[in-house]
Amino acid sequence: MRITMVGTGYVGLVTGTCFANLGNEVTCLDVDPVKIDKLKAGISPIYEPGLDEMIARNVKAGRLHFTVDKAAAYASAEIIFLCVGTPSDARGHADLKYVLAASGDIGDAIEAAGGETGGDPGERRAKIIVVKSTVPVGTNAKVREAIAAKTGKPFRMASNPEFLKEGAAITDFMKPDRVVVGVDDEHGTGGRMRDLYEPFVRNGHPIYVMDIPSAEMVKYAANAMLATKISFINEIAALCEAYGSNVDEVWRGMTSDARIGNKFLYPGLGYGGSCFPKDTLACVSMGSESATPTPLLQAVHDVNQRQREDFFAKIVKHFGGESNLRGKAFGVWGLAFKPGTDDVREAPAVTLIEKLLAAGATVKAHDPVAHETARELLGDRITYCDRPMDTARDADALLICTDWPEFKQPPLERLRETLAAPVIFDGRNLYKPAVMEEAGFTYVSVGRRAVN
Ligand code: NAD
Repeated sequence: MRITMVGTGYVGLVTGTCFANLGNEVTCLDVDPVKIDKLKAGISPIYEPGLDEMIARNVKAGRLHFTVDKAAAYASAEIIFLCVGTPSDARGHADLKYVLAASGDIGDAIEAAGGETGGDPGERRAKIIVVKSTVPVGTNAKVREAIAAKTGKPFRMASNPEFLKEGAAITDFMKPDRVVVGVDDEHGTGGRMRDLYEPFVRNGHPIYVMDIPSAEMVKYAANAMLATKISFINEIAALCEAYGSNVDEVWRGMTSDARIGNKFLYPGLGYGGSCFPKDTLACVSMGSESATPTPLLQAVHDVNQRQREDFFAKIVKHFGGESNLRGKAFGVWGLAFKPGTDDVREAPAVTLIEKLLAAGATVKAHDPVAHETARELLGDRITYCDRPMDTARDADALLICTDWPEFKQPPLERLRETLAAPVIFDGRNLYKPAVMEEAGFTYVSVGRRAVN
């Protein structure tokens, strides 16, 4: 099929490349000429394991193209996927300005080029406009209106929320747990979307075809559930700290109940990234706009925000007050919001570093892949180190913000000797408190006793 991906970010670039990898003819369109120039030069603007090599292979095979030429990209496509960002606006609503701007462009292109596109000879079919961005229920209808305002020619709509995880995006998309498609004509548009996804579900996993409002809601329900799990275990961890329980033991005892399970229930600094924070807030907004209270999801958000504050308070407490942070040096391990990605949007590391800098401390940080993206937010206010151990040199404490695998078994003796003071604030519970005590560290983590 001839496919155009609108938006060449984490979702559009990965999914477009994966569609090309199965033989489709894919054009990735973006309004950012810098991104497109990089891609044309063979440089991926994002870090995602396996992506560079897959892009290169499909570009070489002539199936994957990059452009800023909207009219040409829309004119040739049988299926157009909207993958633009839907960030929170000032009130926590999903901001649809990118989605609606692209919809207007699509309407113009359909009007100029004709709404139908050649599939098999003799069978002319209307273009399908697929909303893959995460959007509030009712957005597909708004996209339809925005396109119809520009053209009377035929087109079809589909909702196809994306469930990939940054850091494992290619595997998630190539072997999805499920594909969700919302349509209003099950056989026509639903059938064509099934044809597109059928090679991805040879693992036997399902394609669920449903109505559009339900498909739109699935993505929010899934992300709200995942965010709830994280805030839940963080609240339990806070109670563990207050009452001297060990959250590791509590976790083991609790998650062996098959009804609960052990996935995605790790205490730490809370969730970040470009999805859970904004999608939880968007659910709360959908509730307030429809007079449907969502106190649970508001609390999920509040607990998550508090988690970073509480962790910073532990640092402040150790140094005997915020004013004592002035002039202190901190090493930081991990800038990305989670391992496997260079995405630092809403990352706990960025919040904590901002607080340390505001208090007059200095920071040296290391992340395996996120220096460039972090520099966009933090500039040269911190020092970026190529090696984790370099951040610890003469530091008054080390702060662990991301659970990259390479941080899990550091040489403890060398680390203790490199730090000016053997103090570790571990926001990801990477080590056992007893081991750290034995190794001579002051060690503060989440939901477990601090050792001094
Ligand atoms: P992103 O910010 O990485 O990329 C969006 C891209 O869209 C940018 O490159 C931007 O320049 C481009 N763009 C904006 N307006 C455009 C226009 N009119 N025409 C062409 N390009 C345009 O965003 P992302 O992380 O890929 O997320 C995209 C959507 O997918 C969001 O709704 C997000 O919630 C959802 N989503 C994200 C993930 C994830 O892990 N990042 C997972 C599932 C769903």
